[in-house]
Amino acid sequence: MTDRLIILGSTGSIGTQALDVARKLGIKITALTANSRVDLLEEQAREFNPRMVALLDEKAASDLRVRLADTDIKVLSGIGGICECAREESADTVLNSIVGMAGLVPTLDAIDEGKNLALANKETLVAGGQLVMDAARNKGVNIYPVDSEHSAIFQCLRGAPRERALKRIILTASGGPFFGKTREELADVTAAQALKHPNWEMGAKITIDSATMMNKGLEVIEACWLFGVHEDQIKVVVHRESIIHSAVEFDDNAVIAQLGLPDMKIPIQYALTYPNRYPSPTDELDLATLGTLTFAEPDYETFDCLSICKEAIRRGGLYPCAANSANEQANFLFRNGRIGFLEIGELVGEAMEACENKYDFNLMDVMATDRLAREFVSRKVAERKGSI
Ligand code: NDP
Ligand code: MG
Repeated sequence: MTDRLIILGSTGSIGTQALDVARKLGIKITALTANSRVDLLEEQAREFNPRMVALLDEKAASDLRVRLADTDIKVLSGIGGICECAREESADTVLNSIVGMAGLVPTLDAIDEGKNLALANKETLVAGGQLVMDAARNKGVNIYPVDSEHSAIFQCLRGAPRERALKRIILTASGGPFFGKTREELADVTAAQALKHPNWEMGAKITIDSATMMNKGLEVIEACWLFGVHEDQIKVVVHRESIIHSAVEFDDNAVIAQLGLPDMKIPIQYALTYPNRYPSPTDELDLATLGTLTFAEPDYETFDCLSICKEAIRRGGLYPCAANSANEQANFLFRNGRIGFLEIGELVGEAMEACENKYDFNLMDVMATDRLAREFVSRKVAERKGSI
């Protein structure tokens, strides 16, 4: 169980819920980081009194330094500051809830410092899965999944025999706000429509990823790394109610699932208290009131991002990184009204095909692939606009 915790991305949807969990369990917070949200980070710093805080944005960090001048809290800035927080020496665990592959380097720093990792930041594993898993193995640190599906799988595997009896992972997907729609119907949907998720309150980027089902594609890749399975051992099933958070199937065809109301506080708390369980603020699950749970096949043609991610991890190497970074850029452009909804999948697919792959790669290669994929998307969008 975590005693002293660092939270990277503490001002976000997961970060703020993690602080709620820490407050209730009395877990000491030793460092907090954010991108630019000064007001909230100041408030958090005053309540939890960490040793240090960091903001990526230099100007915001200068502002925070002035605001916290009456405290002993060290205020750092830039990626260097975030990495220094990830290494804060007195903590045993880092919860990484940064959005995007910006979380990769701090993750590697936390592992290098011997911290256990509670990982919400799935893009880290998608872009640098091999590097992260190798580093964790070499340092002997544990990775506890925070993503609800992966926490579910992790929980379902607790009673599994030592000899691997895992046959399949059944990864559930809500289907997002556009489940059942055709490509024609999706051509003109807006970011405001895509931001209305049926079951979960989340940050903007992951909410759009849920609408395109890129999120499920990223989660397939995340599951491959976390549980050492191949892509063809993962079966994605649309389950609109988000009550079964995922399941595992063993060699004898027994299926074990984890259920609960859709509330991230359960997986966040489990990642911080493993192997123990404590009372949770989440409501109890009442199956009789729910009455029915439904399941359906995903529509891989309409939601092409899911197919692209499966192809990317089948190919391996740097392809998942290219697909992820292209999506980060395309997701951003869609949120800002610069491209249409269906263009996200088109751009991610084209960027993956353009990836200059290597099977033996290091962090510099991942960073270069990230940059090239983002540039590829920006260039393609500029060309498309120019040709209209
Ligand atoms: P949010 O957008 O709500 O929060 C992101 C956090 O990261 C904020 O603290 C933000 O700071 C900080 N941040 C943003 N960009 C950078 C950057 N470039 N460098 C450093 N810090 C940065 O995201 P969520 O909490 O929704 O998601 C976080 C991660 O967890 C994602 O990887 C997501 O896929 C995953 N996840 C989220 C779930 C959810 O329910 N929200 C469920 C499962 C997984 P600031 O506030 O200053 O911008
Ligand atoms: Mg999830």
